Amino acid sequence: MSNCIFCDILLGKIPSSVVHQDDSCIAFLDIQPVNPGHVLVIPNSHASNLAELDAGVASKLFTVAQRVAAALRESGEIRCEGVNLLLADGEAAGQEVFHVHLHVFPRFKGDGFGYKFPARYSDRPERSELDAVALAIRNRLRAAH
Ligand code: 5GP
Ligand code: ZN
Repeated sequence: MSNCIFCDILLGKIPSSVVHQDDSCIAFLDIQPVNPGHVLVIPNSHASNLAELDAGVASKLFTVAQRVAAALRESGEIRCEGVNLLLADGEAAGQEVFHVHLHVFPRFKGDGFGYKFPARYSDRPERSELDAVALAIRNRLRAAH
């Protein structure tokens, strides 16, 4: 796709530091890592968001991410006490590059990365509210199947 920085990486138009490539996806270092060893796993075929992504390719992305996570933990050269996988789907979720990508990055105590929770996070919803939300999701899952 034109105007997609990750498609340009796939085409070799802009440089990248590749750690894995196969017939479904490529994994390369993020240009602005949270910590050294921050990898992005992306599909070879452009998909702007999760809904556009082929389910088989989605599972391959996760398999590669799992292998990258193991490599980060076992390299012996990258500081890695834990690993986060993160996928931002949509602008409101923090997606900035609209070619699906799964972040895999090493974590260690005191690395400065963290999540910010809303103030209401400390108020647990009632079970009835959780059940109503679960029902809405279940209904949609059934309808979409
Ligand atoms: P998002 O916020 O969409 O989940 O993440 C986009 C990621 O792509 C960011 O972490 C950003 O640093 C990374 N990124 C943006 N442009 C480039 C680039 O040209 N090369 C590489 N390797 N990563 C990029
Ligand atoms: Zn693309």
